[in-house]
Amino acid sequence: MEENQEKNTQIKVAIVTGSSRGIGAEIVKTLSSNNYIVILNYNKSKELAEKISKEFKNVYPFKADVSNYVEVKNLIDFAITKFGKIDLLVNNAGIDLVKTITDTTPQDFDNVLKTNLYSAFYTSKEVSKYMINQKSGHIINISSIWGITGASCEMAYSVSKAGLDAMTKSLAKELGLSNIRVNSIAPGIIDTEMNSFLTENEKNELYEEIPLKKMGTTNDIASCVLFLENNPYITGQIIQVNGGWNM
Ligand code: NAP
Repeated sequence: MEENQEKNTQIKVAIVTGSSRGIGAEIVKTLSSNNYIVILNYNKSKELAEKISKEFKNVYPFKADVSNYVEVKNLIDFAITKFGKIDLLVNNAGIDLVKTITDTTPQDFDNVLKTNLYSAFYTSKEVSKYMINQKSGHIINISSIWGITGASCEMAYSVSKAGLDAMTKSLAKELGLSNIRVNSIAPGIIDTEMNSFLTENEKNELYEEIPLKKMGTTNDIASCVLFLENNPYITGQIIQVNGGWNM
C-alpha cells in the first residue's frame, strides 16, 4: 500500500502494545480480521511479531519497550507518520510478579509499575493529542481481576492494575467531551504463557473458585475489545471477563 493511500483510507488504525503473543496477539489477529490496520508492538519477541504480520493483513510490527517514554513516542510517531491517525489504542503490555512484600525490591516495584502502568500513561498522553484533534478515539486498558480484588503475593502487579482502572475512569471523564472513550477490560485467569508457572494441581484448585470452572481464552478478551469498539456509548467502564470469579 502506498503511504498516501494509507493516509486517505477510511480503515481504522489501531495500536496494540505487547502483542507478540498471548492476549495481545489475539487482539491483533481479531482486529486484522475485522479490517483494521494494526500496529503490533513488541519488545523482545521479534520473530513472533514478524510471523503474525506475515500471516495477517495490514499488521505492522514495531519494536518499542513501552516502559520507556522515548520509545513510546517513536511508536506513536510511526503510526501517525505512516497512517495519519490512531483510532484505537489497546494498552495490553504487561508483566507479572509473584513475590511477598518482604521479597519485593524497590527495583521490582519500579519495573512492574513502569511496564504495566507508566506505559499506559505514556501511550495515552501521546495518542490523546491526536485523538483530541480528530475529535474521536478509543483507549482500552487491559487491567486484571487483581486490580479490583487485590492479590496475595502480587501486590505490585495488583497496584499497577488498580492504577490502570483509575486511569480509565479519570480519562473517560476528561476526554469524553472530545468524543474519546476510555474503557478497561479486567480478565480473570486466561490461558497464556503468563500462567505457565502454575501446576495442574494449582490450576484445578483455582477452577474450584471459578463458577465456570475453567480458564478463559485469549479470544474471550479479543472479542470483548471488538464488543467495546462496536458500542459507542460505553465509556469509563471496567468490563470483567472472568468466568464469574469476581462479581
Ligand atoms: P504474556 O503471554 O506474558 O505476553 C505479554 C506480552 O507483553 C508479550 O507480547 C510481551 O512482548 C509484552 N511485553 C512485556 N513487557 C513489554 C515491554 N516492556 N514493552 C513492550 N511489550 C512488552 O501475557 P498475557 O497473558 O497475554 O497478558 C497480556 C495482558 O493481560 C497483560 O497486561 C496482563 O497483565 C493482562 N492479564 C493477563 C491475565 C492472564 O491470566 N493471562 C489475567 C489478567 C490480566 P515481548 O515478548 O515482545 O517482550
